[in-house]
Amino acid sequence: MSIERRNFLKALCAGGALVTVGGCATPGGPRASGKVVIVGAGYGGATAAKYLSLWSNGSVDITVVEPNAEFVSCPLSNLVIGGSKQLADITVGYDGLRKRGIKIVRDTATAVDPDRRVVKLAAGADLPYDRLILSPGIEFLWNNVPALNNAAAQSSILHAWKAGPQTVALRKQLEAMPDGGVYALSIPVAPYRCPPGPYERACQVAWYFKRAKPKSKVLILDGNGDVTSKGPLFKKAWAEEYKGIVEYRPNHVLTDVDVRTQTAKFETHDEVKATVLNVVPPMRAGNIAQQAGVITANNRWCEVDFLSFESIKVKNVHVLGDAIQIAPAMPKSGHMANQHAKVCAAAVLQLLAGQPVSPTPIITNTCYSFITDSDVVHVDSVHRYDAEKKTFLTVPGSGGVSPAMSAIEGSYAFAWAKNIWADTFA
Ligand SMILES: Cc1cc2nc3c(=O)[nH]c(=O)nc-3n(C[C@H](O)[C@H](O)[C@H](O)COP(=O)(O)OP(=O)(O)OC[C@H]3O[C@@H](n4cnc5c(N)ncnc54)[C@H](O)[C@@H]3O)c2cc1C
Repeated sequence: MSIERRNFLKALCAGGALVTVGGCATPGGPRASGKVVIVGAGYGGATAAKYLSLWSNGSVDITVVEPNAEFVSCPLSNLVIGGSKQLADITVGYDGLRKRGIKIVRDTATAVDPDRRVVKLAAGADLPYDRLILSPGIEFLWNNVPALNNAAAQSSILHAWKAGPQTVALRKQLEAMPDGGVYALSIPVAPYRCPPGPYERACQVAWYFKRAKPKSKVLILDGNGDVTSKGPLFKKAWAEEYKGIVEYRPNHVLTDVDVRTQTAKFETHDEVKATVLNVVPPMRAGNIAQQAGVITANNRWCEVDFLSFESIKVKNVHVLGDAIQIAPAMPKSGHMANQHAKVCAAAVLQLLAGQPVSPTPIITNTCYSFITDSDVVHVDSVHRYDAEKKTFLTVPGSGGVSPAMSAIEGSYAFAWAKNIWADTFA
């Protein structure tokens, strides 16, 4: 076995984020060459950059465009809101990627010209590409919450659904809230980024209230008819661990807010006034996906060929992560974005080398949710490409959920985070 092939197989199975591409066939490897531009250095984009570099042995020219100097992880960000972690604990730098020879341009991509194969940047530069990978995450549909459609309102009623300054600001709002206050969390109708994330957030705020503000309440105002992920586990936690603190109300589709009074308004239910109102608005693929013309599903998400993650509409443009129209039972998660990126990186190298792409990718997902600062539950799944249906389907009998919350799962969850940060950014 060649060193390249050994390295490739080792890399393929690195970290906790296993993916198999065509039964571990070597992709383009050293024969691939060309320019790949990646927009967004989050879970999808950074993983794609790393594995393109690793699997091509540096023969491909890779440029990543990202406006932020460091990456702040959404996974574990609810612990910052609960107060058991700090922002520094969930912040990762890009030096690992730079050390691999990957160019990181600190800028925002504003347009794509697919005919000339050029990405335009806010600072004025044009970046030519042979293959473009977009992993821009999500943008909010502010028009669906009209009173929040301005910067002043957005600094008062927070989403904290992109980790960073809003995560810290929401924590400060909770610290400033008097004991006896109500924290209300509005959840959009699925699909949205991280199905269990809002319910984990409710647990983390309840964990804080139980210790510091025991007369306070957490009110979950869910646009969905029921808890969208790990329902029985979360409901058990609210009934037992957070009895008298958490109240869950389904079918609360938000129509607008009153910013001054922190009031939420709904399609079919009475208004709810909160002390701290936290609104996760409905969302779609990030703006650059719209500008590139790759949004094809419901004006919100990007349909892709799941063998390569190439857009079904715009050639030579691939889309990863939260921005895509998901396959059945595929969550919008960091773990999934990391997996999409590996399938895509292998396919891009194969395409650049003039080879066919691997026909049978298999990917996995594990999602941990913190109930307390240390007790955790998980859900996991395995997804295999189905050639007939041309999508990923969950492998029968694979995956499952925790029997109950436990501290041992807490240690696995922290290990998962360390592994995926190393697998993505180191
Ligand atoms: C509270 C919360 C908890 C979560 N917990 C988990 C968890 O436990 N496990 C899990 O797997 N997932 C979790 N997730 C989901 C996870 O964060 C996302 O699914 C993941 O970040 C998606 O990766 P991505 O690459 O699509 O987007 P991101 O990771 O958001 O990366 C997008 C990047 O693109 C950049 N960008 C956007 N537009 C442009 C542009 N025009 N030009 C240049 N750069 C641009 C952004 O700055 C950003 O860095 C959680 C999410 C939330 C909100």
